[in-house]
Amino acid sequence: MRYAQRMKRLGTESAFEVLARARGLEAQGREVIHLEIGEPDFNTPGYICEAAIKAIRDGYTHYNPSAGYPDIRKIISEEINRTRGIKSNPNQVVITPGGKPIMFFIILALVDEGDEVIYPNPGFPIYESVIKFVGAKAVPLPLREVNDFRLDVKELKSLITPKTKLMIINSPQNPTGGVLTHEDLREIAKLAVEKDIWILSDEIYARIIYEARFESVTQFPGAFERTIILDGMSKAYAMTGWRLGYGVMEETLATHVSRLATNSVSCTASYAQIAMGAAITGPQDESNKMVAEFKKRRDVIVGGLNKIDGISCKKPLGAFYAFPNITGTGWKSKKLADYLLDEFGIAALSGTAFGDFGEGYMRFSYANSIENINKALSTIESAVAKIRQYA
Ligand code: PLP
Repeated sequence: MRYAQRMKRLGTESAFEVLARARGLEAQGREVIHLEIGEPDFNTPGYICEAAIKAIRDGYTHYNPSAGYPDIRKIISEEINRTRGIKSNPNQVVITPGGKPIMFFIILALVDEGDEVIYPNPGFPIYESVIKFVGAKAVPLPLREVNDFRLDVKELKSLITPKTKLMIINSPQNPTGGVLTHEDLREIAKLAVEKDIWILSDEIYARIIYEARFESVTQFPGAFERTIILDGMSKAYAMTGWRLGYGVMEETLATHVSRLATNSVSCTASYAQIAMGAAITGPQDESNKMVAEFKKRRDVIVGGLNKIDGISCKKPLGAFYAFPNITGTGWKSKKLADYLLDEFGIAALSGTAFGDFGEGYMRFSYANSIENINKALSTIESAVAKIRQYA
């Protein structure tokens, strides 16, 4: 059988592969603690579920416009204006089944073969995958622990060439929990305007931020015109399985992205969009409570990891991942991740699942109970002690 050449360039997201392996072990009767997948362990708040059930009963079971219902796009536009301090209108919003399709559609709509795209590394693996899939050059921008996993603007500048079409930023960041500062964002905006480059700003963790206040690159002069904001419901409202996301962008680009939706998914589930409207306009207490709980868990996991000889962990400022440095164990990341899963039932991800610059790190999702996190910590401690004993 012959397959399209481009399939050789398409990557994947290891979290789903490790989850499948972990489920396989569970099916054999093994106990596994899940710290691999990036999804809240909470249930979707009740008022959102009720809104969806009512919507189904009210007949929201048909096709709807590819960009989404106008009134829900209006709710999103107003929410984005309020939280980012910008002036978007509903025609600039495209609703998609999850935030991920926005990455895919934006790269398809903006990037030609031979163009260059700068993306964070370690970073969400789908960026690199889709950039390569469309035949463009994926240019990694390393995020370093010494810089609190923030990008270095000087380094970013040095990577820009006349072929650079797009840069991708993500703050708060997956997998490091790093958050870009006001000054970083100002410099990024300035560079993008100067060099005429699009920005895909992945803001999916905007609401899951601890000490700092969330800031978007779009607040700076000239930035919103060239930025696509990616956001969605998966993380902040525990709605990963609903598949609800959106992009906010310049109007012509929105029509292109909407046409890509027509050509692929047709539209996003009608009743789910009604639930999204209810989620955004309804009481935010449950979402806020989840964030407060994540913060408690962060302190537990970071404190615990730092007590383990051979491991050190910076405090993540947002999202729900710890990204410890594991070089003190003497092992490579993937080997350690496999060992923890196969021998000890701890499912977590190798830093290299997020790109080459993730070597020396692992990602632990702390979207799990404090009890399980504590159990995992003592297991990791004995696993690492064994490695060091025989090193
Ligand atoms: N962006 C980042 C950085 C993510 O970590 C994720 C999910 O893990 C997404 C986007 C996409 O999430 P979804 O498609 O569920 O909205």
